[in-house]
Amino acid sequence: AFVHMAFRRSCALLAPRWLYRGVKAETRARTESTVSNVSEIVKEILQDVRHGGGASLDKYCMKFDRVPHQQLQERDIEQCLGQCTKTQLEEDIKYAQGNIRKFAELQREALKDLEVETRPGVVLGHKHIPIQNVGCYVPGGKFPLIASAHMSVLTAKVAGCDRVVACTAPMPGGEPGRLPHITIAAMHLAGADEIYLMGGAQAIAAMAYGTESIKPVDFIAGPGNAFVAEAKKQVFGQVGIDLLAGPTETLLLCDDSVDAEITTADLLGQAEHGYNSPVILVTTSEKLAKETLARVQEELKILPTKETAEVSWRDYGEVIVVDSDEEMLEVAEEIAGEHVQVMHRDWGFFGKNLRNYGALFLGVETNVCYGDKAIGTNHTLPTQTAGRYTGGLWVGKFIKTHTYQHVSQEASVEIGEYCSRLSGYENFAGHKEQADVRLRRWKPGYDTK
Ligand code: NAD
Repeated sequence: AFVHMAFRRSCALLAPRWLYRGVKAETRARTESTVSNVSEIVKEILQDVRHGGGASLDKYCMKFDRVPHQQLQERDIEQCLGQCTKTQLEEDIKYAQGNIRKFAELQREALKDLEVETRPGVVLGHKHIPIQNVGCYVPGGKFPLIASAHMSVLTAKVAGCDRVVACTAPMPGGEPGRLPHITIAAMHLAGADEIYLMGGAQAIAAMAYGTESIKPVDFIAGPGNAFVAEAKKQVFGQVGIDLLAGPTETLLLCDDSVDAEITTADLLGQAEHGYNSPVILVTTSEKLAKETLARVQEELKILPTKETAEVSWRDYGEVIVVDSDEEMLEVAEEIAGEHVQVMHRDWGFFGKNLRNYGALFLGVETNVCYGDKAIGTNHTLPTQTAGRYTGGLWVGKFIKTHTYQHVSQEASVEIGEYCSRLSGYENFAGHKEQADVRLRRWKPGYDTK
């Protein structure tokens, strides 16, 4: 069993308390408690909207966002676009969407249909069919997360989905109902077929169950806060979901080739997402650990988003000193972080050997911000250790893989004899007869006892 030395954020900077603890237990305990706090609230919202439709949806929209839900009409969208067109903003959105579209299209092309003759006369195949109705949640509670519009809406359109519904919460802190015009422009430019102003668990319920005016979808994608992530978990089954992309997490794996100016920027850059965004540095360099701890405190004094970043750092920040690269790998596997930035001379070692994560950022030249905003890979990624069993959102998540088969009469006789006997062992008389009826027809004299 490994142990490591950890400095806790809550400790006094100049006299850090050294703790010995297992990462796994700590990491999981804190992420689970994040979700269990909200599950009852979300359950009630979902039930209410499911049975009460639009009126219940508006009850919660008013309660949490002070404005009823709204489907944006053409003139609203035009107005939002008008605030972006012919500005740097429009160019920036188009640059990001161009990169994301290009990579998604290449990934789509890499998904090949398959048809093979596996035995003489036995033809098996699979084909990829886009999901028809998709709902994309674009977070909007704290920041207008325009990038999430590209990531889900655009990717669903590249996948070939017929109807892509997009929703986001109203602007926070502004006058009630003020449109998040950049997000709406991005949704529209990404190809959304319907755009709604509604957020939180109630928006997930409206898309999953439908209301008098919103046709339900088959699948819901996109990140969100703990209420949104929990709502997606609870509607799973009624609809498909992409993955549980909850509060953002960042893990830095560093040796002494990187300095504290960079590590601090990369930790605080992601701590600003919310009050519960884990940001963790694992390093073989005690010097870097100490310098980062000191620098974070300095930068927090001047960071414009320090109100959130400070809380995330205090409650979820961690600096872990390990003895070797192998131990660093082991710790990273346990954490299974959403974003893993490897700033290490031998980043190739981690690129080759890490198995549990959302997305990797290899080398000091890149970072989470590039992936989040514009580089072209998808930023909707598994959190809360879900990287153990899934990767992030991509074009393949909007596409179903269906099999089919066709056999010749000769092959039907061959397969039929095996299936008749195999069904008999299981006492499945009906199954056996499905094989036997064909054997009697195409294998003269066959004894179907
Ligand atoms: P959000 O749109 O996810 O949530 C806002 C909504 O939450 C509001 O509309 C409101 O209806 C609801 N809400 C707020 N307080 C509530 C309460 N007390 N009870 C019930 N409902 C309530 O926006 P956000 O809050 O800014 O969160 C965005 C999240 O998305 C962040 O946690 C961020 O880290 C995460 N994110 C994750 C990824 C990823 O890929 N994992 C990517 C981008 C963003």
